[in-house]
Parts: sequence; structure tokens; C-alpha cells
Amino acid sequence: MRYISTRGTAPILDFQGATLAGLASDGGLYVPEDWPSFSPADIAALAGLSYVETAVRVCAPFVGDSLTEAELRDILTRAYAGFSHVAVAPLVQLDERHWLLELFHGPTLAFKDVAMQALGRLFETFLGRSGGHVTIIGATSGDTGSAAIDALAGRDGVEVFMLHPQGRVSEVQRRQMTTVLAPNIHNIAIHGNFDDAQALVKAMFNDAAFASRFALSAVNSINWARLMLQIVYYFYAAVRLGAPDRRVSFSVPTGNFGDVFAGYAARAMGLPIDRLIVATNQNDILHRALSLGDYSTGSVTPTDAPSMDIQVSSNFERLLFDLGGRDGAVTAAEMRGFESARAMAIPADQRTAAAAIFDSAAVNAADMRAAIRWAQDSCGETIDPHTGIALAAARASGGTTPVVTLATAHPGKFGDAVERASGVRPQLPLRASGLFDREERYVVLPADLAAIEAHIAAHARPVA
Ligand SMILES: *Cc1c(COP(=O)(O)O)cnc(C)c1O
Repeated sequence: MRYISTRGTAPILDFQGATLAGLASDGGLYVPEDWPSFSPADIAALAGLSYVETAVRVCAPFVGDSLTEAELRDILTRAYAGFSHVAVAPLVQLDERHWLLELFHGPTLAFKDVAMQALGRLFETFLGRSGGHVTIIGATSGDTGSAAIDALAGRDGVEVFMLHPQGRVSEVQRRQMTTVLAPNIHNIAIHGNFDDAQALVKAMFNDAAFASRFALSAVNSINWARLMLQIVYYFYAAVRLGAPDRRVSFSVPTGNFGDVFAGYAARAMGLPIDRLIVATNQNDILHRALSLGDYSTGSVTPTDAPSMDIQVSSNFERLLFDLGGRDGAVTAAEMRGFESARAMAIPADQRTAAAAIFDSAAVNAADMRAAIRWAQDSCGETIDPHTGIALAAARASGGTTPVVTLATAHPGKFGDAVERASGVRPQLPLRASGLFDREERYVVLPADLAAIEAHIAAHARPVA
């Protein structure tokens, strides 16, 4: 499989190259040159397979020659061995129409682990072949950082610098990052919000001299391999609910548009997905973009679902590229316009194409809390605020198609908000106990490119 940039001019890479590069050198995002196709018989053949075997079949066409099937199976087996549930991503029924897909049984209790545990091992395998090393820089609204740090701590060939907005992540999220004291892990709290952190990361990649001197790479969902690994659970869930013979919809709590784009990819590959519901909180740029064509940033409002407190969704570019006829020059012009004006009108043809697949909803705090209460009182399921937003959107959607709500975080990770909504205090699983007793290590820096680059230069290994 070959990977091309959404902006058309970066070198075409294989899977190994696209994984190690993260962002494309022309500022775009790597996408597969075409979508592998799964026939109804291919999908039917997934019935009864374990999560790991499902992942091997779904990922193999994307990985191409970069790994043998045995290497791929070995990486996936080790990645999911650390999950606390043998099903990896169990489905839980709520009522006659609604299901939860629990994606939070990994080491840091959010769905980011599903991709990151395998991505850390992909990096180690690919770097081990060349003897090279990379500097991973990332911005996190909480869950990406902890998942990346858990997956990469102590691994050979990688130095990790993770930026988080100071005071805007929950205490559990912060401690999951800052109590990892492995020497290759560096946490930076910046004065600013998540979008400031993400903009700093983009600026470092665009600083060509800095990027090549330290071999910068990314594990944010701009990294294609993450999305590939998330496509797997759409197949896994849909097959359990009757695919290829029955259509299924998914409701996805959305921030950076990575998770729901993986659903879009699954559909493009032939999985019979009826609707993809893009659920946002009050930070509703994606809802406005999909429902009105208005893709314009506002200011970020902090909410009880901080991993969705985002105004600029990096992966939306991948959708615009696909819906706009896969023309890199067109996407590059669109994105350059958006980056300077902080606003863009989605062209009518792209809106129509999106409307054939996506529904969207912006869910306010009251409706989020009502969904958490309903799950608790009527189904005995404790859910987190991100999941609550997607469940509210799922229940508000019409029709009779089964709807799977992606449960993206363990409720114990957002205990205060869950208790406020439902009166029930969720327990943190045993694997997170001790978090509050451990030593923390991080630096606080201004949201200033020169200051951050100086800090990284002082601690990273330059390319010889
Ligand atoms: C990251 C995250 C999201 C948003 O996912 P995107 O891929 O950024 O759209 C939703 N819920 C939780 C708990 C998350 O950590």
C-alpha cells in the first residue's frame, strides 16, 4: 500500500515511512492511495474471530510489505495482552436499539490505548531495523498524552515531548502523564489551551531545520497508523451485531475527528455502516461544518468532556480531501485559506457528500448529564462525560438501525463530573491505584515557539 499526502506534493511513502513520518512534509496528512475493499464474504469470515485476529485481517492490506503477517500478529498480540478485558472492546447492550462499545480497558483507561499500544511497538520495530531514532512531539487534551507516554516509555529510539494545556486536563489525566519518570519521557505544561498546544506542534513541524535536526515525528491522530488501528473495532462491533447482513450506525464523541474518520474508512472499505453520528460538546465547529457548511473557529469553552474541547479538528482535512475528489492541490488551497482566515465555507458538493454519511449534534451539559443518568438508572451502566455526549446524540437520532455508541473513557477517569451527573461515584480500576501517591515531573513553559524549541533542543538527541 502506498500513502499520499492530502496536499499532494510530499513524497509517496509505504506504511513504514508514513508511520515514522507522522505529518507529511507539505503540511498535509498521509492517507492510503486507495481504500482496500472487503466483500460481504470477507466480512462474514470475521465472525467469531478474536480481536487480535480481526485486527490482523483489517490491517494487513494497509501494512502491505512493511511487515510480514507473523510480525503484524506478534505486534498486535503484545499490544492487546495488556488490556484488562479479554474481548479487548466488549459490546454492552443498553436497550433494544442501543449498544456501548467499551474501548477503555487499556492501561490508561481511554480509547487512545487501542491504537497507541500497537503504535509504540510499530515504532520500535521500524526504528530497530534502521538503527535510527526519532523525537516524538505531541499535543494532548489529556488522553492522547497518557496513552502515548504509557506506550512509549522506555522504548529504544524514541524521545517523547508531550505538551498539555496547564490546568485544562483532569488530575487523573495529568498524573497519568507526569508520574511516568522514564528518562525518554518529557512533559511540558503550556500556558494556553489545547489548540495553542496543537498549533505549537504544527509550527515545530513547519520549522524544517528544527524538524530534520531532531527527526521529529508524531503520534497524534495525524499519524495514519493510529486511524488504521481504530478501523478494527468498527468491523469487530458491526460483525457482532450482524454485518454484513445488517446495517449498523455508530455515534462517536468527536474532537480531532480521528475516531469518526476511522469509521468513515471502515464504511469506504465496504462495512455496511448506515449513519456515522458526529457528537460534539459546546465546542461545536464540526457540528456547524456538517450541518451548515460553516467551518469557522470560535474560542474554546472548557467542559466536563475535555478531550473534545477542540476547535480545529486536524483529521477533517482527510475527509475534505476524500470528498473533494482526492485532489491535493485543491485541498492545499482550501487548507491554506482556512489557516489564514480561521474560517472556511464547505463547498456544496462536499457538504452533500458528507450528508449522505454523517449526522451531527452539539450536546449541551444538561443533555450530557441526562444521558449519564439514563445509563445509570435504566441500564445500570456508569458512563463518562464523553460517552454521555455520544449517547445523548445516539438516543436523539431517529430510525430503527442499531446504534453503537463508542465509550471512549472509563468513568473513573472523570469521577467528579460523573458523580455530579448521576450521584454515583465511579471507582478508578485497580490498575490506576497509587496514581495519587507517585512523584510528578513536568516543566511549565509559555505558549511560545522559541521557548519550547529551546527546551526540546536541550533534551533531545540531534541527528548525527
Ligand atoms: C480523544 C478523545 C475523544 C475524541 O476523539 P477524536 O479522535 O479526537 O475525535 C473522545 N473521547 C475521549 C475520551 C478521548 O480521549
